[in-house]
Amino acid sequence: MTLKTRGLVLGQIPMRDPDRKLILLTTDMGLVEAIARGVGGRKSKISAAAEVFAYSDFCLFEGKIGYIVDSADLEQNFYNLRLDLQKLSLASYFCELTRFILPDKDNGQACLKLLLNTLWLLEQGKRSPALLKAIYELRLLSLSGFEPDLSGCSGCGQGENLWLYPIDGVLYCSNCLGRMPPDRLRLSLPGPVLQAMRHICQASDDKLFSFRLTPDSEAALESAAEAYVLCQTGGRFKTLDFYKTIQ
Ligand SMILES: [Zn+2]
Repeated sequence: MTLKTRGLVLGQIPMRDPDRKLILLTTDMGLVEAIARGVGGRKSKISAAAEVFAYSDFCLFEGKIGYIVDSADLEQNFYNLRLDLQKLSLASYFCELTRFILPDKDNGQACLKLLLNTLWLLEQGKRSPALLKAIYELRLLSLSGFEPDLSGCSGCGQGENLWLYPIDGVLYCSNCLGRMPPDRLRLSLPGPVLQAMRHICQASDDKLFSFRLTPDSEAALESAAEAYVLCQTGGRFKTLDFYKTIQ
């Protein structure tokens, strides 16, 4: 059986040369693995489509050992990401985080659209890496059922002087902090940062990237989003560690 889908290569798994196993984020099936025969050699027609960050129309054959790439028509390869180490390492983190989150057929298309838009803005330098990182982390988690409750204080419902508890995904105000253990990780959320987080979680796709923050607020947003994603996933991401070493 052959099926057509669009997909972006999040990573490659080595196989016996010159074959590679591709980890694809697809519109129709979410995350899938597909064997790409011969792409490590010189003559393969699908080598370009097998590169990490390449986005292509794929024809996949479903065999006994899983999917095999039958053909691939490259649409976009985000080549310029490779010319800037900071952008390359951040894009690699987006791919690693997405692999960890495991998008499925229900949210695969939305996650792919988010990743394509984020990579494009990163490549073009249209938004700062710090802002794109926070947007990608929070939006990806929201699309995957891990949206934080940012409606107001979980104790009294009011909306000022709020703290984010990234392990719990909730807010408490200064008056209600006593309801949580004193050693629980928390981050102060200034108004503009909270507004930005709500926007990232709830805005329509076409408005998602349409906001600006001061450098201080952007730094606070980056810290809050990263703490949230690390606490919620319990993950350690090698690509994130590397991204931080080159800041
Ligand atoms: Zn309260």
